[in-house]
Amino acid sequence: MSQHILAIDQGTTSSRSIIFAPDGSVLAMAQQEFSQHYPQDGWVEHKPEEIWNTVVSTMQDVVKEAGLSAEDIATIGITNQRETTLVWDKQTGEPVYPAIVWQDRRTSAYCRELNEDSSLVDYISEATGLLLDPYFSATKVNWILDNVEGARERAEKGELLFGTVDTFLIWKMTGGKSHKTDATNASRTMLFNIHEQQWDERLLKTFNIPAAMLPEVLDCSAEFGDINDDLLGKRIPIQGVAGDQQAALVGQACFEEGMAKSTYGTGCFMILNTGDKPLMSKNRLLTTVGYRLNGKVTYALEGSIFMAGATVQWLRDGLKLIDDASESEALAKRARENNGVYLVPAFTGLGAPYWDPDARGAILGLTRDTGISEIVAAGLQSVCYQTKDLQKAMESDGARPVSLRVDGGMAKNDWVMGFLSDVLGADVSRPTVTETTAVGAAFLAGLQAGIFASVDTLTQCWQCDSVFTPRLTKEQRDVAYDGWKKAVERIRCS
Ligand code: ADP
Repeated sequence: MSQHILAIDQGTTSSRSIIFAPDGSVLAMAQQEFSQHYPQDGWVEHKPEEIWNTVVSTMQDVVKEAGLSAEDIATIGITNQRETTLVWDKQTGEPVYPAIVWQDRRTSAYCRELNEDSSLVDYISEATGLLLDPYFSATKVNWILDNVEGARERAEKGELLFGTVDTFLIWKMTGGKSHKTDATNASRTMLFNIHEQQWDERLLKTFNIPAAMLPEVLDCSAEFGDINDDLLGKRIPIQGVAGDQQAALVGQACFEEGMAKSTYGTGCFMILNTGDKPLMSKNRLLTTVGYRLNGKVTYALEGSIFMAGATVQWLRDGLKLIDDASESEALAKRARENNGVYLVPAFTGLGAPYWDPDARGAILGLTRDTGISEIVAAGLQSVCYQTKDLQKAMESDGARPVSLRVDGGMAKNDWVMGFLSDVLGADVSRPTVTETTAVGAAFLAGLQAGIFASVDTLTQCWQCDSVFTPRLTKEQRDVAYDGWKKAVERIRCS
């Protein structure tokens, strides 16, 4: 019997399908981008049929690319852009509106109004671990029901279904037989009580969403349904599902309390496993479901940085100091050490733990001998200092990060990872397979399919490419970080 795993990674700008061999190595990958739609300022939409078509064609392509047939695929895992919201007709499968993407801010005014009610804000934080914000699905569903003609009436009659992207794909792949999600995706809707692991009645009332629209919530490794045989020529079970950042936590095998992963793409998402304790943040970090296996929830604290690789893009496209992101490494190596230059990339304000939307970026500490190298190095270092800020926020919330695993485009930069380790005063590990979200989906599906015996087997599958160890003394580290804190203070507005 074949033991290959097909992982589908449905992201914000592209859909990818990857085939993993039973030892966790990548056999083949297919990827397709799709269009982004910005119908009004602050609105971001995807066409559901494009999401669906790119998923189907990459699934079909990757099987061919790997030189396999559907007979060789034992199981399917799905990971997806989180919070993005779809509503469709239960009978026809026709979406009533385009997918409203997580970045979409159209419900800002509604959220501001609701944010006046401090008891509701407290309740949302307590029940869901989230902040009352347009980012999450709840106000997006509410918007669709209020703004699409006839939608609320049809929803109340039980004719419409809601789903995040995982749910929409499962529903489509199973030919409308299965309306399901997993606990990680549910935990990002702002409708799910993370303690009781159920849809929250009070919040459904607040956002005026009929319970009949909601999918059933399963563990991350579970039976989500079999795909129709017209997709690959055979019915194959979908057995693993998790939202992208949580899938990366699993793909990085962060199964012990205190293990964290940080993904350095355009922005950066850091997630820390806090074990069976849902730590409620006082620093506006998010409390979320890390993963749920065999009915047991492992919680996580999540913090994000707006500008990680985006700072490098700005050095490239804005300042034109480099032609390619990878050039930043050689330049940074040439920078004078301890040059006192700090770049604070508050282009759109400061996130955790400062929460200062009006602050703007700055480069401080310039002298006559500051050159391109020092400025590029300071840009790269800012990502490391911000990670340290997140780590400190997590610590002040009562968590104890013990190790950090990294991935994403910027994690390829050895100089950045070395400096990250210096600033954190801790080892930083980078895996051989950096497609960690897809690995996570494959791990979850393989666990349910019996390809992997247990979480311990997954831990053994995770292979380290490099470990970066701190070279700075504690005093040197403190001086460097102190300089960052002072630079941030100089630009704060609140
Ligand atoms: P996303 O998934 O958000 O598109 P990726 O994980 O593909 O992001 O990473 C791309 C980001 O990483 C870009 O912002 C780019 O500037 C940055 N990046 C890529 N390679 C390097 C490098 N060698 N050094 C520094 N930054 C890099």
